[in-house]
Amino acid sequence: MERTADNGTSLRIAIQKSGRLTDKTIKLLEGIGLRFDNYKRSLMLQCRNFDVELLLIRDDDIPEYVQDGVCDLGVVGANVTAETRAEVTVLRGLDFGHCRLSLAAPKNGSIQQVKDFQGTTIATSYPYLTSNYLENNGVDQFNIVTISGAVEIAPRLEVADAICDLVSSGNTLRANGLDEVEAIFESQTELIQTNRELSVGKQNLIDKFLLRIESHQQAERSRYIMMNAPVDAVPKIKEIIPSLKSPTVMPLADEKMAAIHTVIPIEQFWVVMEQLKAAGASGIVILPIESMIL
Ligand code: ATP
Ligand code: MG
Repeated sequence: MERTADNGTSLRIAIQKSGRLTDKTIKLLEGIGLRFDNYKRSLMLQCRNFDVELLLIRDDDIPEYVQDGVCDLGVVGANVTAETRAEVTVLRGLDFGHCRLSLAAPKNGSIQQVKDFQGTTIATSYPYLTSNYLENNGVDQFNIVTISGAVEIAPRLEVADAICDLVSSGNTLRANGLDEVEAIFESQTELIQTNRELSVGKQNLIDKFLLRIESHQQAERSRYIMMNAPVDAVPKIKEIIPSLKSPTVMPLADEKMAAIHTVIPIEQFWVVMEQLKAAGASGIVILPIESMIL
């Protein structure tokens, strides 16, 4: 039988101590109602109003801490989990920390496509993902130099011919005279769970925690939209509105006018706004939503 993750009764969550993910992770946890003090200074942080404690560590260590049941959950980039090959369960993508792991080489040099990596030296912090990709794409001779930071300057220092590094906008690559050759792994921050068996109490806590995250994510993707329109335009407006549920239609003091309220996905707002105006809607207001339970 699997050993139970025996790390006390609080739900223990590993998060990055200090880096790109830290503030967004804390913002997400605060967004679902969890309250903490002074997260910048501690290694371990007890939540004031939910049975959760945070372990703040380097992101590289998060997948293994979760795999080994030292922590029940972790918030970490998919790139790190994939590189460490930790055996954990991905509960959901958290829709921040989007980036890709890419092979890149000096601009206008001899490396223009994946097959040109044959016989080259590649600097990376992701030796496993890089070798695995090259081997699966017909490149069988290459040398990997594993470095943990400032990978993009390796070609200029003549430490390597090319690199494989995380890219989001591509600005860092360009600033270092490099061109992206191939994206080998798409990543975002994920919530991972240990595969160790958990007590019923902890599993219940995780279910509650997940429900809060789902409601929060749903709310972030949605907006409350209000508008006024002539009563005879209401059927047309109902057709335009991309909401799953029927909108609320309320009479106004002016009997020829009605107020229409509904919730729509944010990315649809700009698409339908022009159509709503053309159909006769006026005074269109959109509001953020704190949380949403469907
Ligand atoms: P640590 O000290 O915790 O090991 P780190 O230097 O390894 O930190 P950060 O640079 O803080 O890590 O990046 C953390 C994560 O942010 C990455 O693993 C990746 O998932 C994500 N990320 C998003 N965009 C980028 C980017 N442009 N460059 C690097 N990481 C990015
Ligand atoms: Mg790291």
